[in-house]
Amino acid sequence: MIGYNAVRVAVAPAAVARNFLRLRALGSDLVAVVKADAYGHGLVPVAQALAQAGARRLAVGTVAEGVMLRQALPHAQIIALLGVLDTRDARACQEHGIVPLVTQAEHWPLLRQAARQAARPLEVILKFDTGMGRLGFRPDEAGAVVAALQAAPMLRPVAVFSHLATADDPAAADFVAEQAALVRAIQADLAAAGLELPASLANSAGLLAHPSTHFQIQRPGIALYGANPLAGTPWADRCPPLEPAMAVDAPILQVRELPAGASVSYGRTFRAPRPMRVAIVAAGYADAYSRGLSNRATMVVGGRRAPVLGRVCMQMTAVDVTDIPGVRPGDRAYLLGGPGAAAITAAELAAWWGTIPYEVFCLLGLNPRVFV
Ligand SMILES: *Cc1c(COP(=O)(O)O)cnc(C)c1O
Repeated sequence: MIGYNAVRVAVAPAAVARNFLRLRALGSDLVAVVKADAYGHGLVPVAQALAQAGARRLAVGTVAEGVMLRQALPHAQIIALLGVLDTRDARACQEHGIVPLVTQAEHWPLLRQAARQAARPLEVILKFDTGMGRLGFRPDEAGAVVAALQAAPMLRPVAVFSHLATADDPAAADFVAEQAALVRAIQADLAAAGLELPASLANSAGLLAHPSTHFQIQRPGIALYGANPLAGTPWADRCPPLEPAMAVDAPILQVRELPAGASVSYGRTFRAPRPMRVAIVAAGYADAYSRGLSNRATMVVGGRRAPVLGRVCMQMTAVDVTDIPGVRPGDRAYLLGGPGAAAITAAELAAWWGTIPYEVFCLLGLNPRVFV
C-alpha cells in the first residue's frame, strides 16, 4: 500500500523470523517483543511471520495493540507490557485473552472485577522494578503481592517480569548483576509463599551478553529487527550476525548541476567547493527523516554513497551524486538499507541522527510500508 507521500518503507517479515530463530538458539523460551507496531516494522505481518517460525509468546505495549494482534493470532500468548489503565482495558484482557503485567496495587481491583464478571480466570504477569525505575512493584512488596493474589483466586499469575536498565553497557555489568540478584530473591520469596513462577529479566542485550539474566524466559526486541544492541562496545561480537528487516527509499525528483560557490537549501549551509551534481530526493522531516540529519547523513543512490548536502527540508533533501554516473529523476535513493555493500545500517543512521536504532525504526516505520 502506497500512501500520499513518496517515502516507502520495505519490510521483510521473514528476516525478522530468521533473526528469531538465531536468537532462540541462545535462549530457552523467548517472548518476541512486537510493541510499538513491531518497532515500526508492522505489528500483524511481523507477528504472523514470528508465529510461523514458532514464536508462541509475543509482547505488545498497550492492551489495544494486543486486541489488534489477537485477531491475527488466535492462539499465541499475547502479553501487554504496559498493563491496564482502566476497567475497559481489564475487560479487553479478559475478552481477548491478553495477559497484562500487574505493575501496581491499583491494578488488583480492575483485574479482579474483570475476571469475576466473566466468571473465568485471568492470567496475569507480576512486574517488579529491580532498577529500571519505571513500572513495577518494589522487591519488598513480594509478600503484599502474594496476599493480593490469595484474595483474588480468579487471577492466575503465570510469570514474574523485571526489566534491565544497563544490559547494553559493558561498563555497567555490576548493575545488571544487582538486578539479576533481586529477581532471584523475588522469585525465592514468592516460592516460599507457595508461588512457583518462571522469571524473565533479559532484553536483547541481556540475552546476548548476560547469561545470569536469562532465568526461564527471555524477551528480545531490537535484535529481532536486526540491530545489535552491543554495537560499538567491546562486546559487539557477542551478537550473532542478524539481518536487517527494514529498508527505506524515496524517488529522486530532479538532478541538477551546482556551480562552484553555489549553495543548496535553506540557510545556504552547504556551498559547493567545486562544480557538483546534486539529486533532489523526495524525503524530508515530514517523513521522519530528521532535520538533524542536515549535512550529516548519507543516502545510497545507484549502489553508492551520496552525502546529504545542506538542510533537510520538509519533503525534500539534496544529496551529492557528482561521482555517481547516470542518475536520473525517478531513480530511488535509500535513506536506510539499500543494495549491496553500500547499504546504510540502522546504527549508522542513528549515529548521524544522534539517536539509537530503536528510534530510527519507530519513526521511519510511520511511513507507508510494503511487505516484501
Ligand atoms: C522493549 C522491551 C523489551 C525488549 O527490549 P530490547 O532492548 O528491544 O530487546 C523487553 N522487555 C520490556 C519490558 C520492554 O519494554
